Amino acid sequence: MGKITGFMEHERIEEGYKPVEERVKHHKEFVVGLDDAQAKVQGARCMDCGTPFCNSGCPVNNVIPDFNDLVYRADWQSAFVVLDSTNNFPEFTGRICPAPCEAACVLNVNDDAVGIKSIEHAIIDRAWDEGWVAPRVAKHKTGKKVAVVGSGPAGMAAAQQLARVGHDVTLFEKNDRIGGLLRYGIPDFKMEKSHIDRRVEQMKAEGVTFRTGVMVGAAKDPLGKGSKVTNWAKETVTPEELQKEFDAIVLTGGAEQSRDLPVPGRDLDGIHFAMEFLPQQNKINAGDKVKGQIRADGKNVIVIGGGDTGSDCVGTSNRHGAVSVTQFELMPQPPEEENRPLTWPYWPYKLRTSSSHEEGCEREFAISTKEFIGEKGKVTGLKTVRVEWKDGKMVEVAGSEQVLKADLVLLAMGFVSPVANILEAFGVEKDARGNAKASVDFIGGYATNVPKVFAAGDIRRGQSLVVWAIREGRQAARAVDEFLMGLSDLPR
Ligand SMILES: Cc1cc2nc3c(=O)[nH]c(=O)nc-3n(C[C@H](O)[C@H](O)[C@H](O)COP(=O)(O)OP(=O)(O)OC[C@H]3O[C@@H](n4cnc5c(N)ncnc54)[C@H](O)[C@@H]3O)c2cc1C
Ligand code: SF4
Repeated sequence: MGKITGFMEHERIEEGYKPVEERVKHHKEFVVGLDDAQAKVQGARCMDCGTPFCNSGCPVNNVIPDFNDLVYRADWQSAFVVLDSTNNFPEFTGRICPAPCEAACVLNVNDDAVGIKSIEHAIIDRAWDEGWVAPRVAKHKTGKKVAVVGSGPAGMAAAQQLARVGHDVTLFEKNDRIGGLLRYGIPDFKMEKSHIDRRVEQMKAEGVTFRTGVMVGAAKDPLGKGSKVTNWAKETVTPEELQKEFDAIVLTGGAEQSRDLPVPGRDLDGIHFAMEFLPQQNKINAGDKVKGQIRADGKNVIVIGGGDTGSDCVGTSNRHGAVSVTQFELMPQPPEEENRPLTWPYWPYKLRTSSSHEEGCEREFAISTKEFIGEKGKVTGLKTVRVEWKDGKMVEVAGSEQVLKADLVLLAMGFVSPVANILEAFGVEKDARGNAKASVDFIGGYATNVPKVFAAGDIRRGQSLVVWAIREGRQAARAVDEFLMGLSDLPR
């Protein structure tokens, strides 16, 4: 603990945002990180608690009190070494993690939590600027070959860990670029894609082979008929081919099947899944051409789904120049403030207002869509009804029907499961929610029912967070290493 009275002397400083009028004109990042002096003061607020709840609140178990102290002492390089020991990609989490660590911070019981995420962000950006982030090439090769299928944060973390202990790793990705939802889904204004490209270069230097545009699955129709899942594959590799060539296979294909809203009028033009809309903008930002891009310019946009994906649709629609943006949430409006003694150290239920909401958005709670209405095959509006909860059941409020104008409807109601055909092609057993069935046990964890096939990230746990995907990728890498070598030095 650098400064014993720091938490009493200093207030929390939030990272800044560039002004709304400026940032909605482009798709670039707009967060203004802490400067060195601010980061030092924020580090000084850490109480170095005997039981650091932040450490267990963080899914990768970042050693938060240690790096807070090191930043307070201006020993940035050691702070980076501590951070790098638990998190392969702090520049991703430092930008887009919702920071469950801060909910668990002991200061958060009756004060403002330490700004852990902003300190993480400051450490890793400084480490890249200073050239401290270097490839870690294995000293000895094991001669074992591992295929990782899916290049999101889980696949990237697994591949990096496995390459660092000397396995020959090939990372397969059906899309044309590496990164999973970090690349195609999460808007560039939340995380620019150069951060992924830099890691890809590091991983190449560490010996990972990247094969993009390669679908792993059944030779015929691997995604199922009419699938809207992103796919720019030019080639298919079958599970049998992988089984023959590799000593172990890690499935990290995510949970890409979007939840649909099958109400009358669903087939009208102008109704799209968020995951059709968002990746197109990522592609345009990357300099690609997208024929017939779904655009929100001059439109009344309704986003159905009150979560993060919905919020990303709001931010992207405002950048397109939408006339109005409204976001629907089925659940009632949560309280502005959580009941801290009741919720701490867990993730609290409370109203969350994102930077995209601040850019312009009407938010409607406790509202359900009964029908899409349209003219000449094109959506023009939504028939809605207010809902309330009685005895744990949702009931419609009589007489609350309304018709709202909409020229573009974006469905952001979450994801139901991984693409079933992909798991079926491997013969991997599914759990009750349709995810790949594998435990997280210390011994034998992440292994599926199919010999030498492992599963990690959203494909195993369902749609979650980047930081959980990194944790699972790291832990699965250790499980694979143990399976191949009998023991492993990789951290769990
Ligand atoms: C719009 C959106 C915004 C989000 N925002 C946040 C956020 O701000 N913060 C946060 O923490 N989390 C966020 N999330 C959640 C987060 O992105 C995911 O939990 C995380 O990316 C999961 O990582 P993963 O590696 O398991 O899977 P994914 O990132 O989904 O990657 C899976 C990859 O596997 C590939 N693949 C699938 N099947 C095959 C196959 N058969 N052959 C070859 N390749 C295949 C896919 O193309 C994909 O690239 C967001 C999600 C969405 C959709
Ligand atoms: S990865 Fe997320 S939970 Fe962990 S320290 Fe960073 S912001 Fe907190």
